[in-house]
Amino acid sequence: MASDEKPVCRGDWHPRDSSRSIPSRLVDRDGQILAVAEDGRELASAAFSALAVSARVGSIPRRVEFADGSLFETTDNAAIDHLQWTNGRKRAGLVHGLERFHPQLLVFVVAVFLLSGLVYRYALPVLVEVAVAVTPPVVPRLMSVSTLETLDRTVLGETKLDEAKRRAISDGFARIALNSTRGPSAYTLNFRNGGAIGPNAFALPDGTLIITDELVDMSDGDTEMLVGVLAHEIGHVELEHSLRQIYRSAGMAGLIMLIAGDVGDSVEDLLVQGGGLLALSYSRDAEAAADRHSVELMQKAGYDPTAIARFFEVIEKKLGDTSETTILSTHPGTPDRRKAIRAYEAELREKRAED
Ligand SMILES: [Zn+2]
Repeated sequence: MASDEKPVCRGDWHPRDSSRSIPSRLVDRDGQILAVAEDGRELASAAFSALAVSARVGSIPRRVEFADGSLFETTDNAAIDHLQWTNGRKRAGLVHGLERFHPQLLVFVVAVFLLSGLVYRYALPVLVEVAVAVTPPVVPRLMSVSTLETLDRTVLGETKLDEAKRRAISDGFARIALNSTRGPSAYTLNFRNGGAIGPNAFALPDGTLIITDELVDMSDGDTEMLVGVLAHEIGHVELEHSLRQIYRSAGMAGLIMLIAGDVGDSVEDLLVQGGGLLALSYSRDAEAAADRHSVELMQKAGYDPTAIARFFEVIEKKLGDTSETTILSTHPGTPDRRKAIRAYEAELREKRAED
């Protein structure tokens, strides 16, 4: 018997193409693996590298196949793993060590990372669009009603504007609503005292618009400018910005639940608890799109299409870009936007001249 012989484990040896089973043990004779019967008879022998060892799958018996086609079977998974480990190391040293880290696994991990990045980048927007498309009208309606209720209970107060001022703004609003895609019945305008919200105008996803006394006061009687702001808000509604924004913040899991019709508690909270609606700020792209919408709508209604640019002038002058006022944080106003508004108006005018 060789000096360096290590028992590996016990099991059963099967001759090639035979169901005969001989109780035996596997021994490791310095890299030469042998199946040895109870009586010491050598049943099969091969270098470790010539063996085919089945992969570990749960507690399924491991099969070690010798070059002659005979099989050694054992339930001692740990012993086979150890055999592979020790012989593998001896065989290939560092290279095998690296192998054990499975380059394929690394590639797989990197691929999963890239894939999730891609999913986030491309699938999320698609899911958002699907969610917007499958949202029944009752959802934005519920969200809007509960938001306005919450706001009325917490920050907003009754308007102190006089009737004539309100009528002038309402008339202008009616004119742009008449020219909107959804039509006048889709929009309602509410006057409120802004309280902590201050000068602001915003639209809830169902077409409920709110304008605060403070914003009206800031306009110095420029009703057309205020109508321009309301046209911008109608733009947010028609382009479904707030719904999109809410869905985006609901994230992948929320969207999948929503589309699958299994709305979880957290998504439901997000949808019904309106407070979150106001905290959402729109992206620059959404703001620019709403600005362009204002230009188009104002032009159709026979107003100065660039009236909303005057509004940005006013807030820059009166509030300053450093102001913490909510209208600036939810509607980032920059001189660039005024420029873009005027450029878009000029572009539309040229197009009309060509027609
Ligand atoms: Zn906006």
